[in-house]
Amino acid sequence: GDEIKAEMVDELSKKHFPLCMRTLHENLRRDHHLKHFGRLQYGLFLKVLGLSIDEAIAFWRKSFSRITDDKFNKEYKYNIRHSYGLEGKRANYPAKSCQQILTPGPSDHGCPYRHYSPENLQTALLAAYSSRGLTSSDLPEIMAMVKTDHYNSACTRVFEITHSAFGVKKGEGVGGNDSVTHPNQYAARSMELLK
Ligand code: SF4
Repeated sequence: GDEIKAEMVDELSKKHFPLCMRTLHENLRRDHHLKHFGRLQYGLFLKVLGLSIDEAIAFWRKSFSRITDDKFNKEYKYNIRHSYGLEGKRANYPAKSCQQILTPGPSDHGCPYRHYSPENLQTALLAAYSSRGLTSSDLPEIMAMVKTDHYNSACTRVFEITHSAFGVKKGEGVGGNDSVTHPNQYAARSMELLK
């Protein structure tokens, strides 16, 4: 796809990201930091979204605004380059799928549909998506899916609701009636629809 620039990420996050990545972005902006696993998960997502290594370094350097260049270069730059396959064993690391993110782990980088309390999830959903058409009357249906452990279905329904202005109907999912199985699939489909 088109190249994504570091300064585009704020807007892309608001328009196109699923709640897991939206949450990591908001946490990064709030704390000017993300812990290791959140950084890894979000960094790989942004890589697959189309952020080049140079733009990734620019993005993280600017985001970690409370540390010195020296600390950034020593403690973070290597790991960013590593995740792009430019250090160590030079592996082409894929971005994490929903299934990997849904596997219970430290709470700062999981799937909000699974790992948040019902109250926090509803607050987060309205904060993230009311500007894209989600209202509190949509919440009971979403929460019923969450309650029966259908996290991907809940995320898919949120996608449908927040893209209804772009022609997406309930049941169509992220195209071809597919449910969300990967955060990058969610974001890529959203970017395609809003082009
Ligand atoms: Fe992210 Fe997948 Fe959870 Fe949606 S279902 S919030 S894409 S991990």
